[in-house]
Amino acid sequence: MQIEQTFKQVSDVLKRGIYGPHMLAFLPAICLSAYWGGGEVLLVLCALVTPLLYALTGGFGRLAPVGYMAADVPPGPDVVSQQFLEIAQHNGQTTACFQLSLSGLSEIGPAFGDHAAQEARQVVKARLRSALRQGDQVFQTGDTRFTVLIAPGFRLKLDSLLDLGKRLRAAAEAPLSVAGTRQYLSVAMGVASSLTFGRNVTAQIWLASAVEALEDAALTDPSGTRVWSDKLSRKVKSRHSLRDDLRTAFDAGQIQAFFQPQVNLLSGEVVGVEALARWDHPARGTLLPSEFLPLVAASGTLPRLGQIILSDALAALRVWDSEGLHVPSVSVNVSGCELQMPSFSDDVLALLDRHEVPAHRLGIEVLEDVIAADTDDVTCHNLRSLAEAGCRNELDDFGTSSASIQMLRRFPVTRVKIDRSFIREADRHEDKREMLSALVSMTDRLGLEVLAEGIETVGENGALKHAGFALGQGFLFAHPAPAAEMSAWLSERQNTNAPEAHPKLRRVK
Ligand code: C2E
Ligand code: CA
Ligand code: CA
Repeated sequence: MQIEQTFKQVSDVLKRGIYGPHMLAFLPAICLSAYWGGGEVLLVLCALVTPLLYALTGGFGRLAPVGYMAADVPPGPDVVSQQFLEIAQHNGQTTACFQLSLSGLSEIGPAFGDHAAQEARQVVKARLRSALRQGDQVFQTGDTRFTVLIAPGFRLKLDSLLDLGKRLRAAAEAPLSVAGTRQYLSVAMGVASSLTFGRNVTAQIWLASAVEALEDAALTDPSGTRVWSDKLSRKVKSRHSLRDDLRTAFDAGQIQAFFQPQVNLLSGEVVGVEALARWDHPARGTLLPSEFLPLVAASGTLPRLGQIILSDALAALRVWDSEGLHVPSVSVNVSGCELQMPSFSDDVLALLDRHEVPAHRLGIEVLEDVIAADTDDVTCHNLRSLAEAGCRNELDDFGTSSASIQMLRRFPVTRVKIDRSFIREADRHEDKREMLSALVSMTDRLGLEVLAEGIETVGENGALKHAGFALGQGFLFAHPAPAAEMSAWLSERQNTNAPEAHPKLRRVK
């Protein structure tokens, strides 16, 4: 037994000696000694026969890295990324990692079955592969996730990485045909280049950084690309800590409604207020919806936020009533996900009941793109039930998406709110004024109220009045403020009773 083992060990050492890559270094020496011993004929024979013998005995096959070729299972992203990183570091080259998350892919399984979903993933993987060079690697790293590793090279600057990102996006977003239908996917993408890191970076950190960039894209621009940097990393980490804080923010009463008045542009009279969510963060101060709404959406707590803001709004209305302040109505912003809850309209009507506020004093602001994207019957049912009960549905950010006029017919809407992009510098641009006049005629004909959002200057206000607008809202009149401050503003305005003498609210976010 012992002799057998010793024999095997010796034979292994010999094999390693003969088949190691260093054997190639002996070829010139072998040829030279052949020439010395047998002249030109032996030299030629030796130069031809030695590599041939080496190839026939499988020597070249064994020159490849052992772990890579011998493994039955192809190496995963962890192993390949480590190899790419080592090669790049050794040769002074750059390598890059793309992390991709495809939305639309997870819906294929429930709609068309697991087999169709698996096939779709394979097609996507093959398309990604075809957008790359030989040597680059694609891995499916989750049901909707792919990792792409770019082989080390000298010309992988940021520009070429972004071009590569575009190619990958085009490949992954090309329509898929599934069971006779066309399916459209959209890609959020994070990129990390090895160039951004020092020499001591590990493959694990590098891959995780690309995931961090992907996370940022998925949350802030779901069909965009983000490149990892220290700054991005700090932003993501700060967002993580905000996400942790959000868990207690609701219970601690830190999320509350601010209010911004809506006025009649001709008489100056207050016609209503819009409730806007704010987070009174203990360390960061007052946060705007743009800073926390994506986190609320990602944590699935938009309905909870909606309930808080609606309760605040109805309670504030009752306080203003009791103070003798004239606020005919309050409008709240409602997200698409709330509208898809079958109990939504009943919940709203129950809250109106509890606060003893009649339904006609409540406006439900729905983003135009929610209605444009939605073919959902539940949304339609909710908006109809609320309208039947007397609530006023308002179409927010009108003109910013592809919602057609048809939508205004399909959903019961009483008011459209024209987005600030149409209002900005309307006094300086003739084409904007024409567009605004056309919008007023259109809404007039459809029997809808129209309100201009985001009026900031006296000039814009003048242009809007000239275009026929009767209702407006914006910093020119007041910034959003807490209910108590709004009371003070309303009473001062009511007392002076002069539309042009606008008392300004303290500038709060
Ligand atoms: P929005 O519904 O279009 O609200 C109007 C936004 O414009 C508010 O931003 C408001 O502060 C801002 N604004 C008002 N006047 C002016 C102006 O003269 N100039 C400019 N530049 N801006 C003006 P805010 O409060 O940051 O809210 C942003 C968005 O967040 C809202 O846009 C709305 O879509 C969403 N949002 C706010 N509160 C809620 C909420 O309770 N629930 C939901 N689902 N979304 C909310
Ligand atoms: Ca709104
Ligand atoms: Ca708006």
